[in-house]
Amino acid sequence: MISSLTASVNGLVTLASTAINERDTQKLAATRAELTQKVIEVQSKVLSQVGMISDMLTEREELKERIRELEQQLRYRESYRLVSVGTGFCYEFKQVADVTEGSEAEASHFVCQPCLDVRRQKVVLTFSRGRYDCSECKASVRV
Ligand SMILES: [Zn+2]
Repeated sequence: MISSLTASVNGLVTLASTAINERDTQKLAATRAELTQKVIEVQSKVLSQVGMISDMLTEREELKERIRELEQQLRYRESYRLVSVGTGFCYEFKQVADVTEGSEAEASHFVCQPCLDVRRQKVVLTFSRGRYDCSECKASVRV
């Protein structure tokens, strides 16, 4: 599309040069009409390019946001390790050793393995009556 626009602009420049040097008034009128048509053609192509660039910038912002989301999920995931618990698996929160002074360490907990792996959602499991339950996908792990 850019090469088409470049070719149109080059054609416009050639026509403009021809119009400047034309002495025959009939040929000059024909060249002016052709020149006007070329200007309209170039304007249309420029508007089309501006639209494409605008779409690409929007898509670029959406992709940057998606990358931020995936990086956040990855950081989330790195905070947990898969452990075998009773009859199944859970992700256990990894305690951070270098908790800075003034901040509190996150309490030890398990999150649902299917929810984190498949649904990309962190769901803390609740423990009662000898098993861990997920409130979202209803998975349960008996201890
Ligand atoms: Zn779940």
